[in-house]
Amino acid sequence: MADAPLSHPLGAAASDEDAPLYAPRKQIYPQAVKGRYRTIKWVVLAITLGIYYFLPFIRWDRGPNAPDQAILVDLANGRFYFFFIEIWPQEVYYITGLLVLAALALFLMNAVAGRVWCGYLCPQTVWTDLFYAVERWIEGDRRDRMRKDQQKLTLKVAGQKGLKHFIWLMIAWWTGGAWVLYFADAPTLVYELATLQAPLLAYTWIGILTFTTYTLAGFMREQVCTYMCPWPRIQAALTDEYALNVTYRYDRGEPRGSVKKNEVLKLQGLPAGDCIDCNQCVNVCPTGVDIRKGLQLDCIQCGLCMDACDTVMDKIGRPQGLIAYDTEMNVKARMEGRPEVRHIVRSRTLFYAGIIALVGAIMITSLAMRQNIYLSVMHDRNPLFVRLSDGSIRNGFTIRVANKHLDERRYALTVEGLADAKIDIIGGEVDQQGRAIVTVGPDQTLEARVLVTDTASAASSSTDLQFILTDLSNGDKAATSDHFKAP
Ligand code: SF4
Ligand code: SF4
Repeated sequence: MADAPLSHPLGAAASDEDAPLYAPRKQIYPQAVKGRYRTIKWVVLAITLGIYYFLPFIRWDRGPNAPDQAILVDLANGRFYFFFIEIWPQEVYYITGLLVLAALALFLMNAVAGRVWCGYLCPQTVWTDLFYAVERWIEGDRRDRMRKDQQKLTLKVAGQKGLKHFIWLMIAWWTGGAWVLYFADAPTLVYELATLQAPLLAYTWIGILTFTTYTLAGFMREQVCTYMCPWPRIQAALTDEYALNVTYRYDRGEPRGSVKKNEVLKLQGLPAGDCIDCNQCVNVCPTGVDIRKGLQLDCIQCGLCMDACDTVMDKIGRPQGLIAYDTEMNVKARMEGRPEVRHIVRSRTLFYAGIIALVGAIMITSLAMRQNIYLSVMHDRNPLFVRLSDGSIRNGFTIRVANKHLDERRYALTVEGLADAKIDIIGGEVDQQGRAIVTVGPDQTLEARVLVTDTASAASSSTDLQFILTDLSNGDKAATSDHFKAP
């Protein structure tokens, strides 16, 4: 008997080609669902929100002259504190390194399991999920919410909606509030906010983030993922046929039909799939996608349709996994009787993992070897040199010394490259060995004017000059080069 043709998902999607270019938004009422992936999402939600809201309150003892907040962006002093790491403005490349690592981790996730970031970890997904949970808790599940939106507004429903928006605003407000705590001492700022003594900027940022969280998670929801976010487009260009995606196994599900109809077909020896067309996978979807039409841009790969379908399969006594992490290639392979191919470890994933390991190793090594002393020198632009009354030539420089230690340090500055060079420092001292001495407070920088004089007037028009800074307490050195200019 000839096989009945399978209804290919792309075929179903192709019928959308005649759809108009603009369609008004359809309100989505995702239904509650229980299952493995829903549980994973709850756990991820609790961990990520817990980290975001409470991390500013974690303390980290750095000694007497440094803040004790584990993660702090100290804009006033130009410092970023991350537990035992302190990043200075001139070390912003560490932030670049972290961003590169984050992008590579995203690529690796994508190569292994598609949009796993979108479905489980993206802040838009996490906060929208939380807002949906509040909505469901107050207004009821899908059918209740649909009925309430369609019927005339009663006092009870108005009260429920009012309570929902109040709780949403509270969550949004706390989201903005937590954000500003990363930029100041958290307990102090909480006290100042509560007593209306905080800076206006803090209230402004809380207002902005309250508004954006409330709008994006409460109203725009799936539209952010579908229309505003660039990642689905980039992700589509980066993925390959081996990446696991939430896939409707149409080789097993089609031809779809009711339980009874498919039982009759099976008894007659006709092909009948496991999909009973109950629409549960669509009802639970937070973006309103019918995964049976194949991979779509709107699908954030949250896995909830897998839970919904597994529950249905359990009820009708069929094996779970009609919707599962799979690949289109394997669906086709099964249909054609070829063996499935699963390649999680492949050149693409190894390449991303290798680059992550390399960038991580470079960052750790450079962090371990970073110096707590820093020197920069800038030659005066005008005049390049001055001839003194005794005939000697003098050049002026501006030096910047950074002391990354948490105690005050004294440094000696010397120059090499010019045989009869004499060094002076404006507002500082020169010791008996002719070294310019500077004192820099804990975790501070100092800028000073330095004058280098060629007493023998032997320098050529441009002579290489080496500035050497020595920490007088432990002998640590920092060096940098410039030029000595002469006629
Ligand atoms: S939940 Fe499963 S059985 Fe129901 S329509 Fe979706 S794929 Fe078919
Ligand atoms: S189709 Fe499934 S995986 Fe995709 S967004 Fe909807 S529920 Fe999530």
